[in-house]
Amino acid sequence: MRSALVCGAGIAGATVAWQLAARGVHVTVVEKAAGQRSSGNPVDVHGEAMLVARQMAVDERVRDAATGVRRLVALDPSGRRVATIAADSVTGGADGVEVPRADLAGILLDAAKQRANVVFDDSIARLEEHPGGVGVEFESGSSGRFDIVIGADGQHSRVRALAFGPEGNFSHRIGMFVGTVSAPGATVDPEEMTMVNAPGVSFSLHPSTGVPIGAFIFHSALAESFDHRDTAQHRRIVADAYSDVGWRVPEFVERFVDAPEVYFDTVTQMRLDAWHRGRIVLLGDSASSVSLFGDGSSLAMIGARTLAEALADHADPADAFAEYERRHRMLVMPKQKRVRTTASQLVPKTAAGLGVRNLALRGIQAYSGIRRRVHRSRPAPHDARRLDAASQNQDESGDSSARAAGGHPR
Ligand SMILES: Cc1cc2nc3c(=O)[nH]c(=O)nc-3n(C[C@H](O)[C@H](O)[C@H](O)COP(=O)(O)OP(=O)(O)OC[C@H]3O[C@@H](n4cnc5c(N)ncnc54)[C@H](O)[C@@H]3O)c2cc1C
Repeated sequence: MRSALVCGAGIAGATVAWQLAARGVHVTVVEKAAGQRSSGNPVDVHGEAMLVARQMAVDERVRDAATGVRRLVALDPSGRRVATIAADSVTGGADGVEVPRADLAGILLDAAKQRANVVFDDSIARLEEHPGGVGVEFESGSSGRFDIVIGADGQHSRVRALAFGPEGNFSHRIGMFVGTVSAPGATVDPEEMTMVNAPGVSFSLHPSTGVPIGAFIFHSALAESFDHRDTAQHRRIVADAYSDVGWRVPEFVERFVDAPEVYFDTVTQMRLDAWHRGRIVLLGDSASSVSLFGDGSSLAMIGARTLAEALADHADPADAFAEYERRHRMLVMPKQKRVRTTASQLVPKTAAGLGVRNLALRGIQAYSGIRRRVHRSRPAPHDARRLDAASQNQDESGDSSARAAGGHPR
């Protein structure tokens, strides 16, 4: 296999472009946006994904781009503090970092650009498979022929629509919306993310790395019949859902209603029986979006490496795609299955559910207080190793329970 076209220069597209080019493939990336963006909502990179970043020699840049958030503060609808917990209880923990999504994509793309040809402000208009290759017509009017085409163009993938069928055949909504608005000039503590919950709704204010981000995540019966083009409707839906929530939420609802550009979508998973057809394969959110409650960014990076490895190991793309899909599905499926549980812990629907969730957060807060006291009263050196081992065990169990009850979309 000598040439590949990657549609989408996001996290998945940039990573697979680097990974394939590093294995000798001639890679072209086509991205519909006019150029690289920066900042954006924060995402976690951790575990194997950090190893992928290290392999690409960008791990230091990824760490340098991390947000400075250390605490998650949970508030009730009137703004009273429910609990304060360490941020790494709910993000990737010690082996991970939280990075604005566009910054992560930009760092990965900078690395990919050293080895691949990246074309901005264009997209795929038509795909036609021939024996031994795929003919592509671009929106700009140019055309080309590639050995394989990779759809890394996100949840609303064009490649998937052209080669596999309409989005509605594969999308599974979970009855929730997510809206985000950037809030330049909003007063925030750069080390603190704040989350306000009322039954069925949550608002979180994240300092990001410069321009804070407000996120509205909420249950709504309207999520089933949602029209993603009607932006006036989006603003009305958010304003109605948050009309009774206090603290600083009205300030951010107003920003959402007035902002020229906001993000608003249903919380949706993509589930396809097969991620490949002939010489066309899907990667990242286009293949298997877990939704914002999963580990989509880390999964996108890991999946990109798996796909490139499989293509290096098999001469026939069909065999490579089957191998990639078999290996990567094992990681994705459990994450997709957990999403409803995570969603109900982050945004409990009822007052009773919220009460239980808040109790769990207070438990985590109390537990980390105990841990701090244990560490402060460190004993004589001969006991230190045993205590370290004990607190290590506590860390492990503490982190997982914190994640389960956590307050940040992952
Ligand atoms: C609000 C929100 C919060 C999230 N929080 C987290 C989190 O905390 N942790 C986490 O791991 N994940 C999180 N996610 C999910 C995560 O962002 C995605 O899983 C991840 O970005 C997937 O990467 P991707 O490259 O597959 O898709 P994307 O990041 O969507 O990239 C797709 C790229 O393709 C381009 N493109 C789209 N259509 C075309 C086209 N027709 N032609 C050419 N290019 C095109 C886009 O411009 C973009 O550059 C969150 C998502 C959202 C929306």
